[in-house]
Amino acid sequence: AATPANAAVISFPTEKNPLLLNFNENSLGMSAQAKQAVVDCLPTAFRYPDAARAELIEQIAAHFGLKSENITLGNGSSETIQAAVQAIVLQAQQQQKKVQVIVPDPTFNYAELYAKPLGAEIVKVPLNAKLEFDLATMQAKAAGFAGKSIVYLCNPNNPTATITPAATMDSWIKSAPADTFFIVDEAYAEFVNDPAFKSAIGLVQSGQKNLIVTRTFSKIFALAGLRIGYGIAAPEVIAQVENFVSLDNTNTAGAVAALASLKDKTFVAMSRKSIDLSRQIVTSMLDELNLEYVPSQANFIFHKVNGDVKTYQDRMKQQNIYVGREFPPAVGWNRLTLGTPQEMQVFVSVLKSFSAKGWV
Ligand code: PLP
Repeated sequence: AATPANAAVISFPTEKNPLLLNFNENSLGMSAQAKQAVVDCLPTAFRYPDAARAELIEQIAAHFGLKSENITLGNGSSETIQAAVQAIVLQAQQQQKKVQVIVPDPTFNYAELYAKPLGAEIVKVPLNAKLEFDLATMQAKAAGFAGKSIVYLCNPNNPTATITPAATMDSWIKSAPADTFFIVDEAYAEFVNDPAFKSAIGLVQSGQKNLIVTRTFSKIFALAGLRIGYGIAAPEVIAQVENFVSLDNTNTAGAVAALASLKDKTFVAMSRKSIDLSRQIVTSMLDELNLEYVPSQANFIFHKVNGDVKTYQDRMKQQNIYVGREFPPAVGWNRLTLGTPQEMQVFVSVLKSFSAKGWV
């Protein structure tokens, strides 16, 4: 019901047209208005993107009641994470301080990937038994380090789809010593239903300077291939991060699609509703089949597979369904992207047949 006319829904996955539930993309496809904006921009896309880029920065700032100086645009939020890591590591090196990056484990790994080649030490803190962040241990690791700590907090977390309540996170960020800097990755924030979640953008709005919040148009807005993400922080942090951002990094098509998407409130509501329905279809089947899962607050779900995950993945692939992967050290769990409700009906019927064969 929540599928727009422009979506490429896969009802019968084939080898050529598989059901892609592996990269946390948004199967709905971009909003019709975003698509139209891309088509309309093509005659002028031979120009550099300055005007569209500036307008997008302004509109994002206005959306959050902030100023343009609070925003850095990225070629996806990946670039923002990369630039933030580089900026903070450079600052520490100029101050002749050692740098460590503290990450929960498992989590989205770009902060550590970009930090490692710069010589930063990576400190991985395992999730607790409920697969939530162990903030107390992360905090202790930062407190016990003589140097700069970059703390990467993905909220909701990828691959577990769990949130970290604002109450616990905010108090750490507000009371952290000067040598701690936070990258709060909110790529999936727009999907969250749990009222215990509060965006860390609120901290930036109230003047907090030791963090950057990263967001993206790749997920709720379904623009992953057009590469638009952004960071929100205090103006002095943004200025630092901008030193490492590629000039003219925004492609015009992405910028106009993002602008149209920001205005299209109906699409956001529909996208959320569609994911809620897809999640319900999957959790009902996981319940029926007695497969454990972590309550999801994003467009993917982390669930147990009885047996070897690679074998499960390969068997799904034989059905032309790509189901994500295992994220060690969380062995025995698979991350599944939530596609459209129709797509998830296809998935659950295959999963049920696997269960009947004793495969899951
Ligand atoms: N952050 C998280 C948690 C992600 O899962 C992803 C992509 O899957 C990204 C950031 C990067 O997304 P993008 O560069 O498309 O904004």
